[in-house]
Amino acid sequence: KKKHFMQQKVEVFRASDAVLGVLVWGVNHSMSDLCHVPAPAILLPDDFKANTKIKVTNQFFNKEHLPGQFKFKEYCPLVFRNLREHFGIDDQDFQMSLARYSLLRLEEPPCGGLLLTSCDRTLVVKEVSSEEVEEMHNILSEYHQHVVLCRGSTLLPQFLSMYRVSVESEETYLLVMRNMFSHRLTTHRKYDLKGAMGSREASCKEKVKELPTFKDTDFKNNLQKIYLDQDEKEKLLEKLNRDIEFLVHLRIIDYSLLLGIHDVDRAEREEEEEEEEEEEEEELPVSSSPEGIAGYMNSFKPLGPGEFDPYVDVYAVQSAQDAPHREVYFMGLIDVLTQYDTKKKAAHAARAVKHGATADSSNVNPEQYAKRFKEFVSTMFA
Ligand code: AMP
Ligand code: AMP
Repeated sequence: KKKHFMQQKVEVFRASDAVLGVLVWGVNHSMSDLCHVPAPAILLPDDFKANTKIKVTNQFFNKEHLPGQFKFKEYCPLVFRNLREHFGIDDQDFQMSLARYSLLRLEEPPCGGLLLTSCDRTLVVKEVSSEEVEEMHNILSEYHQHVVLCRGSTLLPQFLSMYRVSVESEETYLLVMRNMFSHRLTTHRKYDLKGAMGSREASCKEKVKELPTFKDTDFKNNLQKIYLDQDEKEKLLEKLNRDIEFLVHLRIIDYSLLLGIHDVDRAEREEEEEEEEEEEEEELPVSSSPEGIAGYMNSFKPLGPGEFDPYVDVYAVQSAQDAPHREVYFMGLIDVLTQYDTKKKAAHAARAVKHGATADSSNVNPEQYAKRFKEFVSTMFA
């Protein structure tokens, strides 16, 4: 497939590295194009179907970092730019965070696929399927409307851009979101909660990981509680109810509440230990040029333990004054791209092949899913 002299290079050039190289190239390319396009007064229906595509052939050019041939497609660029604006993300900062430095791999997600974070940890890049790209197109207009109506204040994922990278006729779909966890406070414990008890427990293999993803049954068994002041709790539930209503309206199911917990005292202890270990080392100079989504805060506002900038860590909530531990919670809704009817059709087809069509009791409809979900959430608080 490759010319002989290329072979050595190709071996060290892992497939996903090529994809990431093209992603970074594509983001830079797209942003420099987009900054010359004035924002329209209002978005038109066609903007929700639009895309830009570019095919690049490089012969011997920059072959350390880019494959010889690739394609890059960006979905609905004007819509996502408008969404970024509603979420308070400046495009230069977005480009800086996403494409200035290399992306870091997060844990292996259960479904395989790439899961990355930007170097400054403000963004998450997730590989999605073509079905999810299609579903995104289906909901984008209503999602946009929802974001406008709630003025960006939502627990839904903040979808910031979506791309397709093609390398050697392999297509990779990538969705960029704001990180629901903090870019600077460590997440010490993590839950993925759906409000369904049956087999919702982390496996033994999962539990020995450094940061396991615990589930509903673990939440109960750990006697986990969330301690919030009454008004914080009300604000949170109000947001959650509005978002869930939106998901029911779009007939979406299978979403989870992602919960991260930062233990302030533990973080302080860990920091002291680290400081002792690192006494000999010199402090790295703090970068002074304007940098990325978290840049403003880093340069002007030093924060103490457990403190966060609500404009950067938008999913963060402080624990109540009288809570047994000082904690910061990070809560948001993830996996919101499964539509009930699509799933039912697929399951129906699979079942019809396997056992002939039988009823599947686990397949709850959007209203039932939302009800069960909300019931679970209401039991989470102390
Ligand atoms: P493609 O960009 O052709 O690789 O498409 C990926 C998936 O997204 C496919 O399932 C398409 O049907 C879907 N898709 C792409 N563009 C649109 C659009 N404008 N409207 C609806 N679905 C789309
Ligand atoms: P998912 O495939 O969407 O269930 O995501 C798998 C894992 O990725 C989750 O358990 C989270 O740890 C992480 N994740 C997904 N989306 C985000 C996000 N927006 N912010 C932070 N972590 C995320």
